[in-house]
Amino acid sequence: VKISELVDESFKRIGEVEEKVQAFLTLDEENARAKAKQFDDKMGTEEANNPLFGLPIGIKDNIVTKGLRTTCASKILENFDPIYDATVMKKLHNSGTITIGKLNMDEFAMGSSTENSGFHKTYNPWNLDAVPGGSSGGSAAAVAAGEVPFSLGSDTGGSIRQPAAFCGVVGLKPTYGLVSRFGLVAFASSFDQIGPITRTVEDNAYLLQTIAGVDPHDSTSVNVEVPNYLHALTGDVKGLKIAVPKEYLNEGVSPEVRESVLASLKVLEGLGATWEEVSLPHSKYGIAAYYLLSSSEASSNLSRFDGVRYGYRTPNAKNLMELYKKTRSEGFGEEVKRRIMLGTFALSSGYYDAYYKKAQQVRTLIKKDFEDVFAKYDVIIGPTTPTPAFKIGEKIDDPLTMYAEDLLTIPVNLAGVPGISIPCGFANGLPIGLQIIGKHFDEGTVYRVAHAFE
Ligand code: GLN
Repeated sequence: VKISELVDESFKRIGEVEEKVQAFLTLDEENARAKAKQFDDKMGTEEANNPLFGLPIGIKDNIVTKGLRTTCASKILENFDPIYDATVMKKLHNSGTITIGKLNMDEFAMGSSTENSGFHKTYNPWNLDAVPGGSSGGSAAAVAAGEVPFSLGSDTGGSIRQPAAFCGVVGLKPTYGLVSRFGLVAFASSFDQIGPITRTVEDNAYLLQTIAGVDPHDSTSVNVEVPNYLHALTGDVKGLKIAVPKEYLNEGVSPEVRESVLASLKVLEGLGATWEEVSLPHSKYGIAAYYLLSSSEASSNLSRFDGVRYGYRTPNAKNLMELYKKTRSEGFGEEVKRRIMLGTFALSSGYYDAYYKKAQQVRTLIKKDFEDVFAKYDVIIGPTTPTPAFKIGEKIDDPLTMYAEDLLTIPVNLAGVPGISIPCGFANGLPIGLQIIGKHFDEGTVYRVAHAFE
């Protein structure tokens, strides 16, 4: 095939469905088509041997792209054109992918439904009355709708895995430190990770292979050897020991989701794996600890949006103090302000020990829960979310109900381990996600188990 035809296909599909799905915030059609034309002439060269060469990709709009508007779905960055590329973008360029556009998300990645975007909602391609999940809702919906074969998202508390589950695609949150965060607009720096959203586990492994690895620009990226993930896709799970946390199959989980997970475990048993019920006793404190810690980090990270250095600046200020206040009041949305206030409060003197320090202690306990289980088992399996996609408007007025969405994904971020969501069934025409969690830097085993279903 010609590369220009692949890119044509992508824009043709966008032309057909984008009006309904609304996954994109910015399309980069002219550049994408020009690059595709150049690439047609490179077919047969060494460069074209890369498995990703010429493939269209969509990028979540909190990953900076040189010269291509990057908004984080926030009014405060509405006209922000970055002057450099994120490390993952450099790596993608080197492998020959073609960026089609930037994808919608919850503002600054705060949310679970993409309803917090400062621009417009995104709709679930399986049912337009349902949310696509969030915060990487655009990244998951664009892949599910066939607009792009794959995309990048980011996951701080579930934002790759939960929308992947809701849209019936494959989404991986890598081990904290495996993928460089340089050029990912920071929300909660000790949790944030960029990861691939794809249709198949194999595609996912190819994309992770491309973006993983230590980066001198990110001091939290870890200097480990990146294994060949493709070698893990053997389908062999014989002798594998699986742990199923009882907290992940309790009353909060809908019967359809529980049945799909149990059916998936049966498949793995049939292939020679064994599973046992275990406990992650502190996971029930995960949501509380996560929202406290992530909001604290966010309140600090988002202080850089002051109307001086980036993006929007209020036209109505009489002095510097007013410039800060009005820029931020006018530029940030409701949810972002809520998090900044919560985080500022938790970090303020006199409250630090009672809230921030306590939450860090809980984080340590949760990490230890995982270590205890992984001392005896190879992977942990459960649902990605307690229910399939909910209706648009259903939870948006009740932040605590929205936060509860992340019950089963957040502990993974607190522990820093990798987790994938793969499709494992349907309920009322909406996809259900199976979550497979691995040891630190053991993405290989996570992929091996996920691939056994393909
Ligand atoms: N829904 C969670 C939150 O609002 C997770 C977001 C994310 O992973 N970026 O914080």
